[in-house]
Amino acid sequence: MSEIMEYVKNRDPHEKEFHQAVSEVMDSVKPVLEQNPIYRRARIPERLVEPERVILFRVPWMDDQGVIQVNRGFRIQMNSAIGPYKGGLRFHPSVNLGILKFLAFEQVFKNALTTLPMGGGKGGSDFNPKGKSDMEVMRFCHSFMSELFRHIGPDTDVPAGDIGVGAREIGYLFGMYKKLRNEFAGVFTGKGLNWGGSLIRPEATGYGSVYFAAEMLATRNQTLDGKVCLVSGSGNVAQYTVEKLIQLGARPVTLSDSNGCIYDESGITAEKLAFVMNLKNVRRGRIKEYAEKYPTAVYTPIDPAADSNPLWNYKADCAFPSATQNEISGQDARNLVKNGVQLVAEGANMPTTPEGVDIFLEHKLLYGPGKAANAGGVSVSGLEMTQNSMRLAWTREEVDHRLKMIMKSIHTAASAAAERYGMPGNYVAGANIAGFVKVVDAMMDQGVV
Ligand code: NDP
Repeated sequence: MSEIMEYVKNRDPHEKEFHQAVSEVMDSVKPVLEQNPIYRRARIPERLVEPERVILFRVPWMDDQGVIQVNRGFRIQMNSAIGPYKGGLRFHPSVNLGILKFLAFEQVFKNALTTLPMGGGKGGSDFNPKGKSDMEVMRFCHSFMSELFRHIGPDTDVPAGDIGVGAREIGYLFGMYKKLRNEFAGVFTGKGLNWGGSLIRPEATGYGSVYFAAEMLATRNQTLDGKVCLVSGSGNVAQYTVEKLIQLGARPVTLSDSNGCIYDESGITAEKLAFVMNLKNVRRGRIKEYAEKYPTAVYTPIDPAADSNPLWNYKADCAFPSATQNEISGQDARNLVKNGVQLVAEGANMPTTPEGVDIFLEHKLLYGPGKAANAGGVSVSGLEMTQNSMRLAWTREEVDHRLKMIMKSIHTAASAAAERYGMPGNYVAGANIAGFVKVVDAMMDQGVV
């Protein structure tokens, strides 16, 4: 394994998040490679870590003061062995090639786990939508799409949202795609309901992560009813995680953004969640305002330079990291264990550092890695593509039922693979192995391409 890591690090020494993602997968699939020397002979590891295509482009746009701004746009088309590239777009100032390659790499195995025919991709820009007017966001999205449109299509590459890309951005991006191509095609998922979107798509990642948590708890004959839950973030994934937790009788007590976190011991209720949704999705304000509105809550600023985050240091039963990568350090993981947390379901992608993952596994937590726990979003994206192809729309109940079934089958596939390779209960190994085998078998069938 050190061989492939050395190879990856030598080729792209600065892409540390990518190294982290590759290292986790390669470590898990070691027994598979040992038992199937044919994969090594076919140079499967080396082929998997090389994107099929990387598109990097200039995105010039004009701000409200008439000043020209220049951002960088990316699309990583990582692997299309089992279907068209599929994966979100992220707009955040931290976006760079290494971060998008890690996300695209993760996406390949996650998509394979969903049972739907989707390859893996990811893209985005270092554009920061925070503080920008709607018109600035629109001009940026239009400029971004004026290049991306030639590389995507319903049978080629189907992007979706991610951090900083929600319903508003997808609308602007889709509008420009349609104009340039002169076709109304299912080229995006997360579309508006009245123009080809699917019911439950906005809810899917958060709901799916809670369904996955319920499946993990069921293996210990427990349910979410009455469980105290820590949730980080306050965007799309966090909001719908909280909504489903409330519906299942749990008590979510925290939320956060990049400035700080709130702790509401009495529980975030449906009414308080409605306030958060308006605050974040309409007024685009900061989570601090929650504590100003509800005196039962305390607000604590987050210091990004500190080695731990106060949000992970409250007494609780379950944790749902739903903000961003590497938000749970080794110290945070120790705090979670110390405070009695027995389950972690990752709504975000790679939110736990390798040290944190080791601590969860060592203490035998029910630990659902993002690849499995947050696959609900892309699963319903796959269902949106199916509905678009059939030119019909399923009901809310139908999509929710399918989402639940997919999360159940991901749980079963990850558990079975972990067991088969002698690591029962290890969902990290199980998810990596199950996704890996499906993708590489398709690559083997298709020859050296
Ligand atoms: P949103 O943009 O809707 O929300 C992101 C939230 O995380 C915001 O509260 C944001 O706070 C916070 N956040 C972002 N970056 C940081 C940071 N560097 N430090 C601290 N807080 C941060 O994104 P989503 O909810 O869609 O995505 C959240 C996570 O879930 C990501 O890891 C994403 O890849 C993953 N995911 C999303 C899917 C989806 O369907 N949307 C599907 C699968 C995974 P602030 O406002 O201050 O930036």
